[in-house]
This record gives sequence, structure tokens and C-alpha cells, in this order.
Amino acid sequence: MEIIDFHTHWFKRELVNPTFIEFLQVNNPTFLQRIDDFSSNPLVAVNYFKSQGVKYAVVLPEYAPATSALVPTEAVVEYCQGEDMLIPFASVNPNTDPEPATKLEHYVKDCGVKGLKLLPSYQFFYPNEARLYPIYAKAQELNIPVIFHVGSSRFKGTRMKYCDPIYLDDIAVDFPDLKIIMAHSGRGFWYEECFFLSRFHKNIYMDITGLPPKNLLRYFPELDRNGEKIIFGSDWPAMPKGIKENAEIIKSLPLSSKTIEGILYRNAQRILFNGGASSEINLSQ
Ligand SMILES: [Zn+2]
Repeated sequence: MEIIDFHTHWFKRELVNPTFIEFLQVNNPTFLQRIDDFSSNPLVAVNYFKSQGVKYAVVLPEYAPATSALVPTEAVVEYCQGEDMLIPFASVNPNTDPEPATKLEHYVKDCGVKGLKLLPSYQFFYPNEARLYPIYAKAQELNIPVIFHVGSSRFKGTRMKYCDPIYLDDIAVDFPDLKIIMAHSGRGFWYEECFFLSRFHKNIYMDITGLPPKNLLRYFPELDRNGEKIIFGSDWPAMPKGIKENAEIIKSLPLSSKTIEGILYRNAQRILFNGGASSEINLSQ
């Protein structure tokens, strides 16, 4: 079974907070030895992904200099150029970009980015603030998904109040055709809220990045009832295990084959390539 990894990162050593490098030292030292090769040569990532059974990988920039990183969208676009399996997303900062919606349009139309990542707890805004609405209107018009970081984080200065998933409810209501993805599915103490919201709204999805796959059914006991709304992401290279190993654990969980296929490939495929929201979810099922 092929995999779409909806959540990977590209960076250079000097573009990220030193805490992140320390994390890699402990959790992925093999990667850290090759960090400079990886930063300069996309084939390093491509070959790794292929070895793990990954067909497509979303590559995320991160414009959040106050906390985690300053990885510009332009650099990620350049890195992914010419490699079909690498799918660049954009990062804008609503606090420092004077016209974030215009910037997003430029990234999509001129640079080929396929989605947007926002980091409320690193960039310090509530997702339902009116000043963010032009960004969502633009993303909906361009038919691209928006990923929100929803959950805990290791970076100092993170303010978790901003990523409470309840603020996404307003966006789901006001932008019914916008595909909203909750990265990390509420890691920490919002699992139930994320699960409910993604079942309740046809346009909200959960990405399970950074959650130990063996614990998925503990966090989401009814996961099989929401199989078409859950998306696999690895956070590579910020992860202790291989992507393939995590995918194998998911395959071994007591879930229907339709759910497993949905998590590892189909749901992401639908969002990235078909442009459709999932079918209406019936909560009484
Ligand atoms: Zn991440």
C-alpha cells in the first residue's frame, strides 16, 4: 500500500530554533549527521521517502521566528522544484505579512504551492479573528487546504490557548468549502474535541502527525467511524521512528481495511488532487 505523508519539514540548521536541533540529536541522530546534504539536495529526501513507501510528501515551510523557525515558503518551493513527489505548501504570518491573502495567491498561482500551513500557537493569533478571514476566503477560492497546528509543542514561548480547536468551528461554518486540517489532532488534551469537530463538519479533517500510532485507538476509540477524515503525517525528520514503521503499526490496528487505506493514502489524495470534501458525515451512524 502506498503512502501519502501529509506533514514533513524542510529546513536548514540555521533557520530553526536550537531546541529543534537538540531534539534531533536525541530522536533522529542519523538524520542529523546528514542534515547539510538533506538541506541542499532534495534527492536525499526523495530517496528516503521512496525507501519508506511514500508516494507523495507534503513539505512545510514555517514562518514563525518568535518560537520555532523562519523557513520561508520560497526556499521550500525551490527545494521541491522538479520533484513530483514533493508537494510544497505555503506559510504566511498574519502578524507580520501586510497582505497575507495576496501573498498566498502569489504562492499558489506563481510558485505552485498546494496548500497553506498556519501556526496559531507559534504566531500568536486566534484562528477565528476577523483579520484572518481574507486568508480563508482566498484559500477557499483557490481550492487549497489549510493546515492548523492544533496541539502541544516543544518550542519555548508557544501559547497553546491559540490552538484550541473550538476556534476552527467558526471557520468551518463561515467557509463551508474550505478544507481545514487539524495537525496533531489536538495532541495533549483536545483529542475528543478534534474527533467530534471532524465528524461534525464535513470540511474538517484530522492529521495524526506526532501521535504514537500504537496509541491511536486509546486517543480515538471510535476511529473507524471517522475513517474518511483522518490523514497520515510523520513530521519527518522530527520523529524517532521510520515512516514505514509507523505505517506498519497503523496497518496492524484493529481497523477496517477501508479506514487504513483512507488514513495512509486515499483521504490525502482526495484533498490534494481531487479537490473534494468528504461525503456528508452522519453522526447517528
Ligand atoms: Zn510539524
